[in-house]
Amino acid sequence: MRILIAEDDVTSRAVLAGVLKKQGHEVLTTENGADAWLALQKPGAPQLAILDWMMPGLTGLDVCRRVREMQSDRPPYIILLTSKDAKSDIIAGLDAGADDYLAKPYDSGELRARIGVGIRLVEMRDSLVEARNALAHQATHDPLTGALNRRALAETLSHELSRDRRLRGRPRAGLSVGLCDIDHFKGINDTVGHMAGDEVLCGVVQLLTDSLREYDSVGRFGGEEFVVIAADTDEREQEALFERLRLVVNDSPIHTRAGDVRVTISIGAVAARRNESLDDLLAAADSALYRAKAQGRNRVCIAQRQPVESEAQCAS
Ligand code: GH3
Ligand code: MG
Ligand code: MG
Ligand code: MG
Repeated sequence: MRILIAEDDVTSRAVLAGVLKKQGHEVLTTENGADAWLALQKPGAPQLAILDWMMPGLTGLDVCRRVREMQSDRPPYIILLTSKDAKSDIIAGLDAGADDYLAKPYDSGELRARIGVGIRLVEMRDSLVEARNALAHQATHDPLTGALNRRALAETLSHELSRDRRLRGRPRAGLSVGLCDIDHFKGINDTVGHMAGDEVLCGVVQLLTDSLREYDSVGRFGGEEFVVIAADTDEREQEALFERLRLVVNDSPIHTRAGDVRVTISIGAVAARRNESLDDLLAAADSALYRAKAQGRNRVCIAQRQPVESEAQCAS
């Protein structure tokens, strides 16, 4: 395990580093608390730290307190190392956020055992964090395509709608939503089989995702229907964006076990209006999609909603 040692005394630092290396650990050393704090904030920081209490500037106790204030689900396990061994000091050290406490002069066998406890806890914590992240991913993503599932889609849309409301009037405000439906997908399933059909669904999601910006989202609305949420995209920009998505799918054969499959999509797109509800937004996208299908498929239909009368225009 990578272990951080923060110790201002040169000899103690060298001895401790030697002991830990001998025990098979990778060691990173700093000679003061400020450098230790910097090292612990870096990505990939050591997961276990042995901090001397008394150091100039930031003490080991100060570093403990800062670590406990970090917004991290993987904070380091901290062992405070010090010659202070009065009961009140031990309490102060643990209260400041140390996980364990070792009095100088330490016994190297005890140090090894206590590090072993730390490693066990770090590993258990890591596997719990991973399991929790995997569950969170499962709860929010469609298992087949990896796109957001319907619930996460609704949450993302609500979140984007309220963000759009807050940003209205600023230069980059706007929110567009596109309901994308694969054309004649039933026929594709019938021709290449359901398994290759599944691969086509995954391929379409991949094409859409690859063509969008990082802060846009793709979700599976159901069957062969997907929702694209384009943040910072207003009424003037949405047509170009969704037309680009339509073309990418049109132009890219999808590799499946049954060979390359070409599909097209129809898109109903809508730009969010002030204080619009999620349901109204999706209903507007749905009726634009309905028109895109009725007008021959493989096209983008924009819901152009006037304040009085809603009207739709088709591109391509
Ligand atoms: P349109 O152009 O009007 O959209 O025609 P379509 O055939 O795409 O639409 P329809 O709603 O008639 O058929 C949708 C098909 O999508 C039928 C269904 O079997 C298929 N489908 C839905 N979910 C899945 C899935 O998870 N995997 C596969 N392979 N097919 C699916
Ligand atoms: Mg010291
Ligand atoms: Mg379809
Ligand atoms: Mg459909």
